[in-house]
Amino acid sequence: MTEYLTRLNPEQRAAVEAVDGPLLVLAGAGTGKTRVLTTRFAHILMTRRAFPNQVLAVTFTNKAAKEMRERVSSILGQSAEGLWLGTFHALCARMLRRNAELVGLSSNFTILDTDDQMRLLKQIMAAANIDTKRWTPQVLMGAIQRWKDRGLTPDRVTDAEDIDFANGRARTLYAVYQDRLKQLNATDFGDLLLHVTEILRNNPDVLANYHRMFRYILVDEYQDTNTVQYLWLRLLAQRPDPAERNICCVGDDDQSIYSWRGAEIENILRFEKDFPGATIVRLEANYRSTRPILGAASHLIANNAGRMGKTLRPGRNDAEGDKVRVVSLWDSEEEARMVGERIEALRRDGHRLTEMAILVRAGFQTRAFEERLITLGVPYRVVGGQKFYERVEIRDAMAYLRVLNQPADDLAFERIVNTPKRGLGDTGIRAMHDLARREGKPLVVAAWRMIETGALRPKPRQALHELLEGFARWRAALPHEGHVVTVATLLDESGYTDMWKQDKSPEAAGRLENLKELLRALGEFESLAGFLEHVALVMENDENPDADRVGLMTLHAAKGLEFDTVFLPGWEEGLFPHQRALDEGGDKGLEEERRLAYVGITRGRQRVIISHAANRRIYANWSSAVPSRFLDELPEEHIQRDGGASAHRNKMASMPSAFSGQFPLVARKPRVAEAGAWEVAARPSRSATMPVGQRVFHQKFGYGRVVAAEDNKLDVEFEQAGRKRVIDSFLEKA
Ligand code: ATP
Ligand code: MG
Repeated sequence: MTEYLTRLNPEQRAAVEAVDGPLLVLAGAGTGKTRVLTTRFAHILMTRRAFPNQVLAVTFTNKAAKEMRERVSSILGQSAEGLWLGTFHALCARMLRRNAELVGLSSNFTILDTDDQMRLLKQIMAAANIDTKRWTPQVLMGAIQRWKDRGLTPDRVTDAEDIDFANGRARTLYAVYQDRLKQLNATDFGDLLLHVTEILRNNPDVLANYHRMFRYILVDEYQDTNTVQYLWLRLLAQRPDPAERNICCVGDDDQSIYSWRGAEIENILRFEKDFPGATIVRLEANYRSTRPILGAASHLIANNAGRMGKTLRPGRNDAEGDKVRVVSLWDSEEEARMVGERIEALRRDGHRLTEMAILVRAGFQTRAFEERLITLGVPYRVVGGQKFYERVEIRDAMAYLRVLNQPADDLAFERIVNTPKRGLGDTGIRAMHDLARREGKPLVVAAWRMIETGALRPKPRQALHELLEGFARWRAALPHEGHVVTVATLLDESGYTDMWKQDKSPEAAGRLENLKELLRALGEFESLAGFLEHVALVMENDENPDADRVGLMTLHAAKGLEFDTVFLPGWEEGLFPHQRALDEGGDKGLEEERRLAYVGITRGRQRVIISHAANRRIYANWSSAVPSRFLDELPEEHIQRDGGASAHRNKMASMPSAFSGQFPLVARKPRVAEAGAWEVAARPSRSATMPVGQRVFHQKFGYGRVVAAEDNKLDVEFEQAGRKRVIDSFLEKA
């Protein structure tokens, strides 16, 4: 038997060898669905059933596509090029370029981003005399996106699908928007699938062509397909001869976590109807995780009512292992410290950082861990997103803070002077620059001058005036209001927070959470200047991209991946399950959150460490956090509670005076860790080993000598770069 088939169990092998006809693999996490799909791909090629370009393979992310390409190549023993392998969007973009003229585009069409989309919608609404205060373009954009996810061109939107918008004009506006896109030879993201589906529906010859071409179709993560993706797949798979409908989908209803983006779990149920006689394969042996991890995940997900129900048993020979840890901590800083110390301990024992991941429910949570890892000098990567201080809203907010701290910070001023929009065109900004340069003054001074001389039209003049006066006011408030309150006021009064509140894109809520997290971070510092310096140092964290790094990502981004060690922090009511999911989705929302928890736990091979903090800082105040209900749904036999969660909880309940009330608006010194909250010994600060006078090496600044030290911050006189302040963990002894 061929070598690659020997690496499968009998059920998996059956799923690989049943190449002809429709096949659905419905199985729990870690049972080898993706392995089956990849092996099947290779098997089709090895048995010469098809050429590489006659197989259509759909993955959920570009990363997964890359991995599958590599896995197929390694089975084939040669690189696999020219494959139709990628995400729905990538595959559809390629198909649309081939047949663009059939929907009135030419093949070099551009794909617009959301900014462009929004601008276009605003123009269209303005032309139609619609009051955009009352009916916001964001709402319209959301509706259009949903229609596209459901495969509805403007003429297909029924009354039932319509929304209450601009006196019933949403559909007309949608139609106008689609026409405008065509005139611009452009599409938005949703159009890629919509257009191709329309082409396949309306052009039998094109469809027949693809039917001849794609002999085999493979789909991973099938539980998260939305309606238009489903329609597209069905069109391509329903070849004239039912015996030739070679579509293989793999999925797990318990891992359906994208309903908020229009995914329809019912697509799994429809499979057997659309493809009568389909083979259904169930895989039950999990090869990824230890018995306690599987036990915990299975027990938790059993609390969901709406599920198909699947058995999952350990398939590894070495499935015995550590219990799942549940660690109760005082606050999020302590939680970050616990995670950091465990990572370091594992690293000392020879574990690779790429085999560890921190999976969070909400993007803002990465901040505390990033700072901890930076302090410890542990390299990390943020998968499927950006590092906290590199996110757009954080960079914008930081620019406001820099101007507040230092009015002459021209780079920062330039970034925010027209964000949010204040009606200053490029010419206005150029004039400001010219004036500043001529007079050798900072931009703010030039801005004041332009207001006084009436060089601007009334509207931008008024807006700029408000901004500059705002800065004067906020700066004056700083000493008595404190930096946290002042910055919160600044973000509100400058209109910056509002800009994101108006934004109805799916990312906006996360950006607002990030801004709140920024205020929390600010509260950890004594002053604005201290915080700015800290962030500047954190941003210096320049590393080698190939380095061994810990993964930091949201649970959504972790789907399909696996790690030896998985940290799942922030299991608190309101955060996980997330309040928004509960508010908007009710019981269904709760079940989807539980599926997310299941996805999280099942990412771990050897170790899963779940944690929750008893207190969260909200701005400068503290509030106590209730442990997630999911913690109560874990089976006692498979978990070990560190610090004894219930005892811990009571202890906290009985010490209300100092911690439950309002904190004064100054940062506190780090509290000494609760004894016994976890067992990993604290690591000695490195500064002790980098005394003043020590010769050191820094990746970016080269050689130098320590001239002063304060906590983990060292002043170093570098030979080339001069005197700099750096964090000790970036230094090597030289
Ligand atoms: P998920 O639902 O999380 O996407 P999955 O069902 O796709 O999981 P895979 O990622 O394919 O599962 O497999 C999980 C792990 O088990 C992988 O490390 C894979 O290499 C390994 N594995 C799968 N099948 C076998 C097998 N028959 N023998 C040994 N290891 C296996
Ligand atoms: Mg998989």
